[in-house]
Amino acid sequence: MSNIAHNYYPQAGRLVILGAGESGVGAAILGKDKGFDVFVSDMGQIADTYKKQLEQEQIAFEEGKHSVELILNADLLVKSPGIPEKAPLIKELRSLGKPLISEIEFAAQYTDAKLYCITGSNGKTTTTMLTYTLLKNAGLDVGLAGNIGNSFALQVAREPHACYVLEISSFMLDDMYHFRADVAVILNITPDHLDRYEYKMENYVASKFRMVQNQRDTDYFIYCLDDPETVAALDKHPTKAMHLPFSAEQEVEQGAFVDAHNKLNIIVPHREAFTMNIEELSLQGKHNVYNNSAAGLIAKVQELRNQSMKESMGSFVNIEHRLEHVACIGGVNYINDSKATNVNSVWYALESFSTEIVLIMGGVDKGNDYDMLKDLVQAKVKAIICIGKDTGRIHEAFEDDTEVIVNSASMSDAVQIASHLAKKGDTVLLSPACASFDWFKNYEERGDKFKEAVMTL
Ligand code: ADP
Repeated sequence: MSNIAHNYYPQAGRLVILGAGESGVGAAILGKDKGFDVFVSDMGQIADTYKKQLEQEQIAFEEGKHSVELILNADLLVKSPGIPEKAPLIKELRSLGKPLISEIEFAAQYTDAKLYCITGSNGKTTTTMLTYTLLKNAGLDVGLAGNIGNSFALQVAREPHACYVLEISSFMLDDMYHFRADVAVILNITPDHLDRYEYKMENYVASKFRMVQNQRDTDYFIYCLDDPETVAALDKHPTKAMHLPFSAEQEVEQGAFVDAHNKLNIIVPHREAFTMNIEELSLQGKHNVYNNSAAGLIAKVQELRNQSMKESMGSFVNIEHRLEHVACIGGVNYINDSKATNVNSVWYALESFSTEIVLIMGGVDKGNDYDMLKDLVQAKVKAIICIGKDTGRIHEAFEDDTEVIVNSASMSDAVQIASHLAKKGDTVLLSPACASFDWFKNYEERGDKFKEAVMTL
């Protein structure tokens, strides 16, 4: 039986895909394989690799425009998560009552694989990669998709797997209606992207909780018991799935917790209990105890052996730009956390060090509330070096909390200043709390520039 029954959406006719990125092109190929008449429309320029793929598959497409007459006659539409609800074309399609769904929703109709789905404000990629690694190392036939890797639709079409680990953002969830997660994870919910949710936290929370809609009593729901927004919303968004909470602060009967001896315990009914010393986890810091808890719970649901889990959790190497150790120069450790684009992830970054910190932060402020960082900055941060155009709010927020706050002219300037202020044993941490696009193309370029600058010290 497929994940979504075939009577919800048209199974033939004209399929229009809006947005020709990884997910759009994947959906187009799957649609073609299923016999749809497919048309792809992208308002911007389509990247060469995707254009080539569409040409090879002989799928009709346009770029630089949306030709309304070629779109409004669709029987079914798949929309890129990047296109906001307020775009005029989307409004028109909605008013016509056209079915408009995400690539994940579309592809789920054509697979009966087990789907392990991970959402949250922070930690999605780390937890998704870790889960994938755990399952893969245990020998499972597993695919990695969602916000990461090859699109889910393309894999369903051309290289199907027995199960998938899917990283799911709230934008994707907004266009998911009948999708069912065998295991749904909500890592945490803290303010982010509120501009897409009428600046209402409850709308953003409701979007995250779409992850558990349609779950059955044989499914599992994994969430963080220490996260106030998640816990407060549980009653409002009930699910039949078995609840497996995780906590670093209290014991749970089933789920995961850290005990008084610093051991991570993972307990899933009808499965062998798992314990591991948290010092042995390869990813350190409280946030990574959470990420390991969530990934470990999925692994246990899937009945992985304890030895195999221990090996993977003890050796996992995270992808770049997430608390990535760059170098130790003159006794100072340089850490690249460029992916920290909101205040909450900076909190976890600061929390995870026991040394004094020289913090490089700033960029495009998304309406940040820096209050939650004040205690940690007072306790650990000896200097803040601002990057980006608009540094006024950082100066205002921390003027009473740290001795030095200075502006820099470039990333290499920031790293130079940091190297002068840091003493042996200190940490220089790039953890910006902001988007990157004033000085950089994206967070990857920001992290790469940081690493380059460190390597030339
Ligand atoms: P996402 O994919 O949700 O953006 P990442 O795994 O890429 O998350 O991590 C983004 C940033 O958030 C990193 O800088 C990391 O230090 C921080 N982070 C990772 N896991 C968590 C967590 N469970 N809670 C809070 N912050 C986290």
